[in-house]
Parts: sequence; structure tokens; C-alpha cells
Amino acid sequence: MLTSEFYGPAGKVLGYRTIDQIVRQDLPVSPQNYEVWLSYASRSMPDLVQEMDVLLGGGRPITGAEMEDLYDRFFSTTQLSTQVMETGSRIAREITEALDALGNAGATAQRYSTTLSTAAQTLDSPSIDRTLLKGLIQLLASSTQEMVQQNQALTQKLSRSSDEMQNLRKTLHQARAEALTDCLTGVANRKLFDETLKSRREEAEDSGSPLTLLFCDIDHFKRFNDTWGHQTGDQVIKFVAAALGKHALPDHLVARYGGEEFAVIMPRTTLEDAARIAEAMRSSIEAKRLVRRATNESIGTVTASFGCALYISGEPASDLVARADALLYASKRGGRNRISTDQTLPGAGQFAA
Ligand code: GH3
Ligand code: MG
Ligand code: MG
Repeated sequence: MLTSEFYGPAGKVLGYRTIDQIVRQDLPVSPQNYEVWLSYASRSMPDLVQEMDVLLGGGRPITGAEMEDLYDRFFSTTQLSTQVMETGSRIAREITEALDALGNAGATAQRYSTTLSTAAQTLDSPSIDRTLLKGLIQLLASSTQEMVQQNQALTQKLSRSSDEMQNLRKTLHQARAEALTDCLTGVANRKLFDETLKSRREEAEDSGSPLTLLFCDIDHFKRFNDTWGHQTGDQVIKFVAAALGKHALPDHLVARYGGEEFAVIMPRTTLEDAARIAEAMRSSIEAKRLVRRATNESIGTVTASFGCALYISGEPASDLVARADALLYASKRGGRNRISTDQTLPGAGQFAA
């Protein structure tokens, strides 16, 4: 296996062990699975290790879909950069070809100009006769024809290049959108969350407008998964993502922060408004009678806990995240299915379930 060579003799063992583990899980030894397992074995990504430990602790093999999800969330940046690199070299090739075509056209124009001045000099001669004149006209006609063809070829080439560039731009746009979307729920992934929080924080800092961060985690989800199975668990994760999206405002960003944890970035939103929106989210999740899609049987209801923190001017984004997370855990400790905010709000009691 070529990749294991990159890790030296000790790494070679790690590489073989990685393949062995993939095979034991009954998973195909694909480059994606290899990358995920190798990172797990080398413990280089703590968040990945934590999620895989949870999955492996479940007492059943990891499924292909779970592997895909892990790859998507932890390695999508790599995927994007490969796509960007490929697209970049295609654009470079297009530009080289267009420049070659322009160079050819330049050479033809140069030849054409020489033909014209030779013809002009010949016409100046007093001894010009009909035969010579006929020959000259033929030469000028064929040179002009060559120029016209060359120009047509160049126009076509440039218009093809421009179409190709437009396709590439679209591909790049799609690749970027895919690399920033969580494939299970269709909401933003962790990478887009990080990028957006950074820019919203800067905006809030510049404009002084309020920025609120909401964290949400499904209650007792492990129990739910254990009772109904992972696929039904996935269905619930999708449902919660949709419920958050339904109540979030158009300029809010709903993101899947981790397994069954979500975050909503709420620019230009006061803590009070954010808490009101969170309450709409909380109550709509609680109210829904869930049905297992595969069998149509009722699987009861789920609840979620929320933590809601208002950005304090000057604090790093990581502090805001830590505060929202701490408030979420305050909701868990307080009995779950509730919202905790970092200030006492008028009528705050109404937010606790
Ligand atoms: P709490 O109320 O304290 O949040 O309890 P919990 O059981 O929800 O929390 P815990 O963090 O112990 O369990 C989360 C579970 O979510 C464990 C993991 O198997 C499951 N999980 C994480 N990601 C996924 C996923 O993509 N799909 C499914 N079906 N389950 C997932
Ligand atoms: Mg949970
Ligand atoms: Mg959790």
C-alpha cells in the first residue's frame, strides 16, 4: 500500500493495522475509509476519535453511511482543495490554449501584412501587366481568406474557452456548496459554521449590532438510537434540523455542529428575540409525534435542550462558543427540554419546560 510508505517504518505498521481494522468492520478498503481510519489510529483528530469511540462502543460494526458521514464532515476540506486544484489546472490549460490560438492569429496577421506591402510595392512598378496583376489579386484573395478562417477559428476557440470557464466556475461553486453542507440534514456543516461565525463576529464588532449564538442538543438521543436503531436516529436528526430551519430567520445560519448537536448563528438578533425563536423551536420539536418511516409505527416524541449566548464585544469566537455550550449543559443539568440564556430575561421562566 503506497500511502503507508509516507509514514515511515512505524507508520507502515499503522497502515497495515488500519487496513486490518477496516476489513474487520466489514467495510470496503476505499481511500476515504482508509483516511478516516488512519486518522483515528494515529489519534491526530480528537473530535474524530471521540465520535468513532462512541460509534465503536455501540457494540455493532460501523456502517458505510456512518463512514461516509465522518469523511464528509472531517475531510471535506481536503475534498474541496483537490477539486479546487483540479479546476485550477483546467483553467490554466484553457488559458494556455487560448494564448496559443492568439499567438497563431498574430503570426497569420503578420504574414498578411507582409503580403499586402509586397503587393503594394509590386503595384508601384511601371511595368505591371495583366497576368501579374491577376496573380497579385489571387494572392491577396487567398491571404484574406486565410485571415478570415484564422479569425473564425480564434473566435470559436475563445468562445469555447469562455463557456468552459463558466462551467468551471459553476463546478467550483457547487463543489464549495457541497463541501460546506452536512450531507445528512442539508444544513451547514461545521466548516461553514466556523467561517460564518468568524465573519458575523467581525460584523458585530464593526456595527455594534447584537449577535446571538444558539446551541441545541437532542435529549437522551443515545437511548433513542439504542431503542430504534441508527437509521431512525438519523431520521430524528433530520427532523430536528428541519425544525430549527423552520423557525430561524432568513439571515440566521443553522449548522450541524456535531453528531446530534446543532448551532444557530443569529446576526442582528437580541438575546430576547433569540430566546423567543429558540422557544418556538423547542416547542415544535416537543410537539411532533414521530413515526418510524420504514414501519409506520409511532416512536413517540423527542425533546432538545438549548443554550443561548449573546456576543460580548471583544471576546474571541471560541469564548462565545464555550459560553453557548456551557449554557446548553446548564439546560441539561436543569432537567433538559429547556433554554438557558446568559442573562435573566423578562418572562424568562416561560422558556423552561
Ligand atoms: P443528553 O441528553 O445528555 O444529550 O444525552 P444523549 O444520549 O443525547 O448524549 P450522548 O452524547 O451520550 O449521545 C449522543 C449519541 O448520538 C451517541 C451517538 O451514537 C449518537 N450519534 C451521533 N451522531 C449520530 C448520527 O449521525 N446518527 C445517529 N443515528 N446517531 C448519532
Ligand atoms: Mg444529546
Ligand atoms: Mg451531544
